[in-house]
Amino acid sequence: MAEFVKPKVVVSKCLEFQECRYDGEIIRDQTVHNLMPYVQFIPVCPEVEIGLGVPRDVIRIIDNSGSDQLYQPAKKLDLTKQMNEFSEQFLAEVGEIDGFILKNRSPSCGINDVKVYGGAEKSPVVRSSSGLFGSKVQQRFAQLAIEDEGRLKNFTIREHFFTKLFTIASFRKLKKEGLLADLVEFHARNKYLFMAYQPTILKKLGNIVGNHEKKTLQEIFECYEKELYKLLSKLPKYTSNISVSQHLFGFFSKDLSVKEKDFFISMIDKYKKKKVPLSSVASLLKSWALRFDNEYLLKQTYFEPYPERLIEISDSGKGRDYR
Ligand code: SF4
Repeated sequence: MAEFVKPKVVVSKCLEFQECRYDGEIIRDQTVHNLMPYVQFIPVCPEVEIGLGVPRDVIRIIDNSGSDQLYQPAKKLDLTKQMNEFSEQFLAEVGEIDGFILKNRSPSCGINDVKVYGGAEKSPVVRSSSGLFGSKVQQRFAQLAIEDEGRLKNFTIREHFFTKLFTIASFRKLKKEGLLADLVEFHARNKYLFMAYQPTILKKLGNIVGNHEKKTLQEIFECYEKELYKLLSKLPKYTSNISVSQHLFGFFSKDLSVKEKDFFISMIDKYKKKKVPLSSVASLLKSWALRFDNEYLLKQTYFEPYPERLIEISDSGKGRDYR
């Protein structure tokens, strides 16, 4: 069974950890719950941290000549400075982390789709923005795995988030240890996963590891990290997953029966039509890697980029193209 480094993840405390919402409620979240044995969570509630009690009067973002102001209408309190100061200090002191799972639509934690009202008094929504804490997270840690719990209900987004999170955590560990041999091995076992993400960047990463430019070890790790973040910045296209699967199929096709080949073709067709997840195609390929005892392929993270037990087929129904 594959071994995984435990990623460090900052999470909105009201998701599974504490009854700290404005109304004294907690939110049950399946993804956070499922991740508990596999990640080290750092829960935080920015509103409680700046001294607002539980329960508390609602706060909202209002438009102040184009900038976002965090405001508590019942007490006529402007909380912008406090929230920004807390966020900057918390994020400066949080240490090494790999990702964030934040509560969606919150004026503090939200990373997008947060309502911005036209003024302090009763006024309509004029635009959308990020919450104040969520916005600082995105400014400071744009390269990490950042999502809100709403988007993580979508299967494709969740799969990408987990892949990115566990890959970044694994790289963080080997960067700390600083051994070129480990980086070479990391690159080799991620080859097909990275090919599915962005083949051109896979090539650049290969050149960095090859070190024809005679860079120092520190420079190699830094260059690799930069390109790795670029590679993981977008979801892989499903067409790339198909071409990688077909490429892997090529390792076994000459040894398979006609029926087995037909079965693979029908599986790819079902994946194209969103009737089966990629993991079903990958499991089939892995079963052949096991049967033909292909050690090289069995080490590939493509078959299990994050712990298998996290695979949860449930989906918000917004499909592969939801961004
Ligand atoms: S969304 Fe953020 S600020 Fe609001 S209750 Fe949850 S953790 Fe606290």
